[in-house]
Parts: sequence; structure tokens; C-alpha cells
Amino acid sequence: MLSNLFSQLVDNSLFFAQSCLLCGVPGTPPGLCPDCQASLPRLPAERCPRCAEPVTGGTLCGACQHHPPAFDALHVSYRFDYPLDGLIHAFKYGKRLEMAGALGRLLAREEPVSPAAIDLIVPVPLAKERLAARGFNQSHELARTLAATMQARFAADLCWRKYNTRAQATLDRAERHRNMNDAFGVKRSLDGLCIAIVDDVATSGATLSSLASALKKQGARRVEAWVLARAISLKT
Ligand SMILES: [Zn+2]
Ligand SMILES: [Zn+2]
Repeated sequence: MLSNLFSQLVDNSLFFAQSCLLCGVPGTPPGLCPDCQASLPRLPAERCPRCAEPVTGGTLCGACQHHPPAFDALHVSYRFDYPLDGLIHAFKYGKRLEMAGALGRLLAREEPVSPAAIDLIVPVPLAKERLAARGFNQSHELARTLAATMQARFAADLCWRKYNTRAQATLDRAERHRNMNDAFGVKRSLDGLCIAIVDDVATSGATLSSLASALKKQGARRVEAWVLARAISLKT
């Protein structure tokens, strides 16, 4: 019994706290060893200040000039590509909750933003049925870590998703926007506040834009999106 307990403790500390999530090398408390962290696929430094699309010179991209999203900025450092895509997949669908801290810290450490500039940190909510099926909301876990790192207020229940929107991947551009139109509810007025919304991956940008729009309708002054990884070209 005692030896059982002991081996359990050893297993937990080795597996959860001290081995790299990617290569398994022991002795790496934050989740990824420095080599694996350096190997993650980064977006180019020059990108659109609004949506983070890679653009030479870092100027506003064509899409944002014509149809700007409702969020004011997208903070993201990584491309949704190997091996980060596998990590996110394991976290999300494999219910690897112990990965939330490591992935949340990856999200938090990248952008030097003054914490005082953010009033509330809000996860992109899942629809009730999806939350029930998955067991947890990956965005909620990432947002909680980001809030702790930035010492900003975590507003987990400020927003909700009204219905289970169809999978964006199956739709064309016009359908994506219609699909996301009015998908979110916001519980109270946010006069003049600056909000950071958090998600794991930006694929179409339509989800983030829809949530940002709902927050602005309630009076938010500025909405920034923080995501861990971005598809190289948002299919908007
Ligand atoms: Zn490693
Ligand atoms: Zn842009």
C-alpha cells in the first residue's frame, strides 16, 4: 500500500511535472524542453497588425482593409502546424488537462502587453452540447492560465454560445459568416472595457470576430484576440 502510493507519486511527478510533452526528456518542469520549444512552427515576424496574416512590411492586409474583423488585434506566435497541431489535438480531444498549464504559458509568454491594458479575459465559449461531449472547454483552460500570468480578471461566464453552430470547415465564406452571425450572448454591459478573448486555434477568424462583435454591442471599447496557433491563411 505504501509502496503503491510512493510509485504513484513518482509516476505523477515524472509524467506531469518533469518530462517534456513532445520528446519525453526528463527534467523540464514547464511542459516543453527548450529544444522542443524552439522547434515549434512560428509565424513570420512581419504580419498584419489586425489579423496576423503574414504580410511583407507588416502592413494592414487586403482582407482587413476591405472587411476588417470585429476584433482589434490578433495576438498569436505560432502556425497551426507540426508538432504543435498534435499537442493541441491531444489536449483538446484526448482530455489531457495536465497540458493546459504548458500550452497556456506558451500563449502568455509571447507578447509583451501591459497587463493593465486588459480589464477582462474571456474564453471563447462552447455550446452546451459540445461541452458535455468533450468534458471541458480547452479555451477556458488556456484563458485561465493567461489571466493568472497577466494578473487580469478571468471572466469565465460572461459569454455563452447560443446554439451549436455547424462546423465551419464544411462551409464557404458567405456561409461561415452567416453561420457565426449572432452566435454569442453577453450577460452584462461592458462600457468602455478592454477585453481579451482566448481560443486555441484561429482557423477562419469568423468565430473570434463574432464574439468580438457581441462584446462591442455591449459597449466594450476594445477587443483583442489571443490564440495559441493560427492557420497560415485564415479562410475568411
Ligand atoms: Zn522536448
Ligand atoms: Zn489582416
